[in-house]
Amino acid sequence: MKRITLTLAIIAFGCAIAVAQKKVPDVHNTFNEHKYRRTEIILPQVKGYNCYKADFHVHTIYSDGELTPRQRVREAWYDGLDILALTDHLEARNYEKFMLKALAPHNPGGKAHKYYHAGSVRLMEDGTDPGIRSDHNAAFNEAMQHLKKEGYPILLIKGSEISRAPQTQGHFNALFIKDIPAIYNIDTKETFRNVHKQGGIVIHNHPAYRRNTTEKSEWQAEAYKEGLIDGVEIVNGSAFYPKMIRRAVEENLVMIGATDTHRPTSGQYKDLGFFRTMTIVLAKECTEKAVKDALLKRRTLAYSGGELMGEEKWLVEFANAAVDCRLVSENGGKKNDSHIYSLTNNTSITIRLRRGKTIYELEPFRTTTVSYGKNKNGEYGRPTFTIENMWHIDYQHPKVVFEIDK
Ligand SMILES: [Zn+2]
Ligand SMILES: [Zn+2]
Repeated sequence: MKRITLTLAIIAFGCAIAVAQKKVPDVHNTFNEHKYRRTEIILPQVKGYNCYKADFHVHTIYSDGELTPRQRVREAWYDGLDILALTDHLEARNYEKFMLKALAPHNPGGKAHKYYHAGSVRLMEDGTDPGIRSDHNAAFNEAMQHLKKEGYPILLIKGSEISRAPQTQGHFNALFIKDIPAIYNIDTKETFRNVHKQGGIVIHNHPAYRRNTTEKSEWQAEAYKEGLIDGVEIVNGSAFYPKMIRRAVEENLVMIGATDTHRPTSGQYKDLGFFRTMTIVLAKECTEKAVKDALLKRRTLAYSGGELMGEEKWLVEFANAAVDCRLVSENGGKKNDSHIYSLTNNTSITIRLRRGKTIYELEPFRTTTVSYGKNKNGEYGRPTFTIENMWHIDYQHPKVVFEIDK
């Protein structure tokens, strides 16, 4: 018995030494923090076009945004975007003020350089226009460098937000421009002309901003009439402007949905359970030429908070492409006399259908079935629905009759 005890004691001692000898690392990584974690947003092919996800209105610290251009690019990649435009304010570069102050002790005399907003926002003491006083292409260049370095396949569009008096004129994004400072003019319409001279387009941003109406001001009516405006934001962040769809359809303007984000998008969108507000661009390829062409031909939809807005035709085509509809039984139902269809949503966006009083929530990558009996004429019903989370002209939901896939 004593011998057994002794043997056990020796074994226990040996084990203790083995435990003590286990190599203890200096660092234990609990997860791989360098791993990309892009959210893939799966959208259908619509009438031969790919659906690209774009945000055409974003701010960085080069105006009054909270993030750097490189953070914006990384964020866009994580958020599942294909196209991004950085659109810092042309007239106001608020963070420059802080930087100039911070640099003051190193200036001769320790004084901060005076900061001026460009143009009509605030003139210099002598009443003259200070114009552009720093490199407005810097944010784009920094973002582009970072894109290449990280290998994010995002199409970066050069842009700028022309931000003039909200009550009379408003804010407008210049997109697809070549040289940002060169578009500047104290006269807003002249700035728009400069955008067009560079091959760019002009989008009317958040048309109700500080006006409480989306109706055109006198000045805006003139600018539209002169053909200086090519598109309008039908959505800015969470604000949907239903009346802008009619304007876009009647005046041949492209419809844009954008975040206009100044903060990180994570807390504003992802954490609430939907994707960031975006424009879905229907284009053959993700090049500047093809995307600009899609915008000029008005092949876009807007997405915001799980809802889709735009022209009826493209909404219905999108729904038809998103949903795989099949006739799965010709003698189903309780009395074996119904047609049963399966509806499979092959996209990342929920499609909410209504048939009479019944709502069918087609969640991403799920299938539901729906049955149709004979009507008074002895004909079978077809899978016809109102799409509750889609909006077209005059605040209406589109109707869809699903094409039968084989
Ligand atoms: Zn604005
Ligand atoms: Zn903005």
